[in-house]
Amino acid sequence: MKVGYVYHPVYLKHDTGQHVENASRLEAVLSHLEQSGLKRQLELIRPRAASVEELSLVHDAQYVTHVQDMAEKGGGWLDLDTVMSASSYEVATYAAGGVIRATEAVIDGEIGSAFALVRPPGHHATPRRAMGFCLFNNVAIAAKYALAKYELERTFIIDFDVHHGNGTQDAFYDNPQVLYISTHQSPYYPGTGSIGYTGLGVAKATTVNIPLPAVCGDAEYLAVFQQIIVPVARRFKPQLILVSAGYDAHWADGLAYMQVSGTGFSQMIKIIEGLADELCGGRLVFSLEGGYNLDTLAASIEATFKVLLGSTEIEDRLGQSPHSFEAPNIAPLIKAIKEIHNLP
Ligand SMILES: [Zn+2]
Repeated sequence: MKVGYVYHPVYLKHDTGQHVENASRLEAVLSHLEQSGLKRQLELIRPRAASVEELSLVHDAQYVTHVQDMAEKGGGWLDLDTVMSASSYEVATYAAGGVIRATEAVIDGEIGSAFALVRPPGHHATPRRAMGFCLFNNVAIAAKYALAKYELERTFIIDFDVHHGNGTQDAFYDNPQVLYISTHQSPYYPGTGSIGYTGLGVAKATTVNIPLPAVCGDAEYLAVFQQIIVPVARRFKPQLILVSAGYDAHWADGLAYMQVSGTGFSQMIKIIEGLADELCGGRLVFSLEGGYNLDTLAASIEATFKVLLGSTEIEDRLGQSPHSFEAPNIAPLIKAIKEIHNLP
């Protein structure tokens, strides 16, 4: 099956100045895909702007208007970490619309799987506010869109960005149709995502938080994928898998303190792809969240595409972490999460 990617130069117009989340991230990813020859093997999916109605599937109308007004005034700071320029409202509608288009292309069978290379990222944006470099919650909007347009009953969002996707959790905390699982460094920004937060009322157990201590590496991530994420996904039986793909858990990323390698990311992607094949006819859509070391971001996204294209040998040019931290013992954490979520 063909593998698609969403990209458009409009994504470079979200001007954040000296901010760590800036246009050079996507420029690095695209130029790497070009130079490696990988781009030729992928189908370009053209994004469109999400409508106000589509943004409002997740966000309060008042908040959408607020972002629009800020853009009209030339931009500014939406919160302590989140800056926007005059073009950012438009760009953010294309980011949400890009993930929507990728989702449509996958569900309509135009392509097998897709990766939306978009910015600004989305998983910290809550229904009512911008946060953590995020304006609109791209993945959450695409999930709601898929549930509504295709009358799906169950969508699974997996978020392996090193930060907890508080916005996505908020959007679906009382919605049993969306399973949200997050692996994240804890304690860390934004401070949410403890194991006791599992969903509300009929949505009980459809939020699964996996807060990991600093310096977890490939072995710890693979353990939680195999022991928690795989069995929870099998029990939920999703009809679509969306991935909040942030690569800031890489050992060389400056924004967090995890030790995941490119090989570790490839192994996680393989597990996710296996779940999509097993549970939902391969319907799988990635959306870019974090990842701030340009080399490791570009290399990790290359590895992701290679897994989706079916490569078995994926070179990890940057190798394992040169640091020799003692591996944290996460067995008690896994045990506690299994108990909370009734896993064998
Ligand atoms: Zn992040």
